[in-house]
Amino acid sequence: MSYILEIIKARDPNEREFHQAVQEVIDSIQPVLDQNPQYRQAAVLERIVEPERMITFRVPWLDDQNNVKVNRGFCVEMSSAIGPYKSALRFHPSVNQSILKFLAFEQVFKNALTTLPLGGGAGGSDFDPKGKSDDEMMRFCQNFMTELYLHIGPNTDIAAGDIGVGSREIGYLFGMYKRLRNEFTGALTGKGLNWGGSLIRAQAAGYGCVYFAAEMLATRNMTLDGQVCLVSGAGNVAQHTAEKLIELGAKVITLSDSSGYVYDPEGIDRDKLAYVKQLKNIRRGRIREYADKYSGSVYTPVDANSDFNPLWSHRAACAFPCATQNEISEQDAYAIINNNVKLICEGANMPCTSDATDIFIDKSILYAPGKAANAGGVAVSGLEMVQNSMRLNWLGKEVDQRLKIIMKGIHKTCLETAEAYATPGNYLNGANISGFVKVVDAMLDQGVV
Ligand code: NDP
Repeated sequence: MSYILEIIKARDPNEREFHQAVQEVIDSIQPVLDQNPQYRQAAVLERIVEPERMITFRVPWLDDQNNVKVNRGFCVEMSSAIGPYKSALRFHPSVNQSILKFLAFEQVFKNALTTLPLGGGAGGSDFDPKGKSDDEMMRFCQNFMTELYLHIGPNTDIAAGDIGVGSREIGYLFGMYKRLRNEFTGALTGKGLNWGGSLIRAQAAGYGCVYFAAEMLATRNMTLDGQVCLVSGAGNVAQHTAEKLIELGAKVITLSDSSGYVYDPEGIDRDKLAYVKQLKNIRRGRIREYADKYSGSVYTPVDANSDFNPLWSHRAACAFPCATQNEISEQDAYAIINNNVKLICEGANMPCTSDATDIFIDKSILYAPGKAANAGGVAVSGLEMVQNSMRLNWLGKEVDQRLKIIMKGIHKTCLETAEAYATPGNYLNGANISGFVKVVDAMLDQGVV
């Protein structure tokens, strides 16, 4: 085991997800460390795995029956070496320090890959949005912000949404931030279009993921047209991944939530996707209702404690895990391989376990890690920040064009870096090495801070 892993495991033995994220990077960057003794001398590894700042705080709020509830809030500021922390906020009962440190760590490398001057962080709460009324969501968001506003700002830490934090929540969070600070500034991204948001921000992570997949397929003279695709999740990233896949002529046959998944052999077309958006974003229902609505589709409940998910056993050419971390197990990876899937493109952050990732790389199928493939979300957040600073809005076409250019650029960087370090086609090494070098070179320039 690398000495860095020994250090972080001794310091925080229960942070499984964080250890996994660090391990994945350490495995890739060994040759860089060997060639650059100055990195070791400056202890960049020891520094990059320790957040610059971590804050935990109490979030008391009142439910609709006037009961006092208490959740825990977090703000993890991992690295500001190349720009202000750019973080994502997650509201989910599984949120803890390990999950947020893993997300913040991934964010550091992802943001470096976008070519924009953005550091990395993450925040959120163990609050469960499921079953909460709009009023309860508003009261929670407002109380959460009464502490978070002390730590974020347009030049300090700029937060966006992640699991459980969509446009409704960003609205409530921004409203309270504005009131507390008495200023209208871009401290949050993913804002509404008539109050500082950017066109294409909502679509960006999903669209960007598909643009990345199209670039990968092009290296093997293939396109997405006519390809059967598995998509997991039914939230922001899954919806827009499916939307762009459908637009490019692919056939999406699955979507899921944490209770189960739907399989539609006819394919989920534009109209069916519009139904899913209404179901998930407005009615906040469960994906099983899709099977009641569309005959011919099948709903299968999934046991979260099982070590496989039958969603990944359907025959397809491409797979887009867009739900959550570690959703593709070793067993799922073998099911995917046995079904002759040619491409895995991660819309979610770290959706493949380490064993699954090793299998994909070992079998030389096209595999894109989330820190490269889903970087479109943060890239357009960066573009929202630029528009806020300039006090103007770009056309959707212009933002989409910039997103495409950024995704193409990330793809090229990953490919070229992997090649330069003698692992051609290994996007994981390419992403980890290029992100790492950019951040640690900035750290060397800035001294021991
Ligand atoms: P949403 O909250 O919009 O959707 C999350 C989806 O994943 C839901 O369908 C949810 O189902 C499902 N899900 C959540 N937790 C679990 C679980 N433990 N097991 C199975 N399914 C689960 O989140 P996003 O779409 O925004 O985020 C999805 C992923 O994409 C995350 O990994 C996030 O970090 C990543 N990401 C998001 C970006 C963004 O801009 N939003 C940008 C880049 C990455 P249910 O409703 O039942 O909980």
